[in-house]
Amino acid sequence: MPHRLSGKDTHLRRRSQERKSSADLLKNSVLSGKIVTIRSFALKPSLSMTTQTLRLSLVCFVLVWWCADIVGGSLFAVTLPEKLPEHPRLFFTKQKEAEIKEQIKTDAFLDQLVQELIKKADRVKAEPPSKYDIPDGIRLLNQSRRSIDRTTTLAFAYRMTGNKEYADAAITEMLTVCRFKDWNPSHYLDVAEMATAVGIGYDWLYDVIPNEQREEIKAGLMKHALKTGLELYEKGGWWTTGHNNWNEVCNAGLTIGALAVAEDERTIAESIVNAAIKSMPNGLSVYKPDGAYPEGPGYWAYGASFTGLMLKVLDGIVPDAQAELLKTEGLNVTGDYYMNIISPNYLNFNYADGGDGADASPMMFALSTFYDRPDYAVWLREFLQRKNRFASGRLAVFHAIWYNPAGTSADFAKTPLAQKFSGIQDVCTMRTAWDDPNAAFLGFKGGDNKANHGHLDIGSFVYEVNGVRWAVDLGADNYNLPGFWGQQRWNYFRQNNRSHNTLVIGDKIQNPAAVCEIGNFVPGGTIELLAGIFEDPDVIASASVDMTDAYKGQAECVLRIACFRKDGEMEIRDIIQGVKDPVRWGMMTRAEIELDGKTAILSQNGKKIRLELTTFDAEETAKFEIVSAKPPTEAENQNDGYRMLAIVSIPQLDRGQLMIRVVIKPM
Ligand SMILES: [Zn+2]
Repeated sequence: MPHRLSGKDTHLRRRSQERKSSADLLKNSVLSGKIVTIRSFALKPSLSMTTQTLRLSLVCFVLVWWCADIVGGSLFAVTLPEKLPEHPRLFFTKQKEAEIKEQIKTDAFLDQLVQELIKKADRVKAEPPSKYDIPDGIRLLNQSRRSIDRTTTLAFAYRMTGNKEYADAAITEMLTVCRFKDWNPSHYLDVAEMATAVGIGYDWLYDVIPNEQREEIKAGLMKHALKTGLELYEKGGWWTTGHNNWNEVCNAGLTIGALAVAEDERTIAESIVNAAIKSMPNGLSVYKPDGAYPEGPGYWAYGASFTGLMLKVLDGIVPDAQAELLKTEGLNVTGDYYMNIISPNYLNFNYADGGDGADASPMMFALSTFYDRPDYAVWLREFLQRKNRFASGRLAVFHAIWYNPAGTSADFAKTPLAQKFSGIQDVCTMRTAWDDPNAAFLGFKGGDNKANHGHLDIGSFVYEVNGVRWAVDLGADNYNLPGFWGQQRWNYFRQNNRSHNTLVIGDKIQNPAAVCEIGNFVPGGTIELLAGIFEDPDVIASASVDMTDAYKGQAECVLRIACFRKDGEMEIRDIIQGVKDPVRWGMMTRAEIELDGKTAILSQNGKKIRLELTTFDAEETAKFEIVSAKPPTEAENQNDGYRMLAIVSIPQLDRGQLMIRVVIKPM
């Protein structure tokens, strides 16, 4: 039976006359079940160009990285003001408190936010203080986070209501953690988050903490955080020059702690603020050039939110340093990345380590104010409202403190439906609408398999429509698995390409050193295929990733093209050359699967989608199958409730080349 193109393909209209002959060639060859033209015609030249560009960008990357380490980031020197602003001076000044109290009289949204936070404080007040608990033998972090949640919520509620019970509970929490033997400096995030909790609580409640207790809390902050932090800055602790979330979190936490006690501990406070300002550009360098986050959206919500704390804590104290950090390339548009990487139904495109549950980070309000982007504020207000996240997360009080009422939903009218982000990990997303939780969504990535927290997931995608995430990324496995951060990382199912929505060739993992860019990202009505550029008014965007580097030694050329249409239909085409071993195509899902040869129907939550498979230059036997999502070992997450829709073995004809086309349609 001859292969047929869908009705939509046959309506493709060529835009580029220059490419007419090649377009016809591919179209004809595909129609007759052959892609023989690809080898000689299009793929090779574009690959050699990609390799050159890649080499160049790698050289640049290494240079920039090296230079950033040499200078330790910014050389900006900070002198704390002679007379520091009175307490509370961090984030929630008396003036800010008065403004919020006035604003809630007329702003129903802010009023609801504040009421939800006070309700949360009532809940938190009844719970016991945090305890010194390191359940995995490595991290105190859960207690540090709980302490931020408790201290900030209770202190905020006291300031808004005047009810002393909240303040007393927050003071008890602070005294408890300050009496710990340490804040677990061997895992320094734990110290940084504890310093955030205690620094904020000390400052916000300064007036009501009895003298003796004030001294005890200050001494705890000095001993556990500021002294250990200064030592690390002086010794050059790894995160001080790190290009990842640790740098952002540790610098922010220590700066908060330092500024909270700066009038009494001026020398150490000034040293820490200076060291943090100098160190911070290392962490912030990952936002270049367009705000994308190499560690994925889960870690953006962590790293960027603490960058928000870092920037905002400098307000009114060292504004010049704040202004300097705000100039960081990519930071001004990183809110675009966050809005785009989260789906219409508020799930992350969770590449790298991290779950799909999106975080309503208050950083979006901070960014909206810093960079005059009312659309960020509208987006966050929608998120908080639709998902009732007013009080969720340990930084929830900053939803109220950084609240920005600017903008209306009309601000989304100009937001593109598809966007590509570069940087260390190339990703792109496409959606059918901004204001509809049932809209279709495609997230698609190239990227760098070496990126911090990265997976072997080049070419992977997630797909969502009608409020269901059909094609999922399982996220990270347990960080404490043996060798998880070393030799064994790529053996683990959740970390390698066997669990991702991409290809597996000859049952091998992707090249862990691979870097693959998104080559052709074409938004709006055009598709760039190998054979040329076509116009199709129903297309929102298309993109391609040259995955050859990811399958080094397994195939000569591997190209994946994704196309996304206005009706929510999407398509993935894989073009593989010089391959000997069988190829497996996979898509991880929670849905029930009904198989019928080259068609599969997926059902979940009463909704359905349909997948159709076409192969070219392959044996006719290729069909959809279901593959277990069980990992090879008991110690790993067993992925209950998940299965992989796969085309298990795609044996090609003798030519060593193959094309796989899967169309996914909402029903
Ligand atoms: Zn993954």
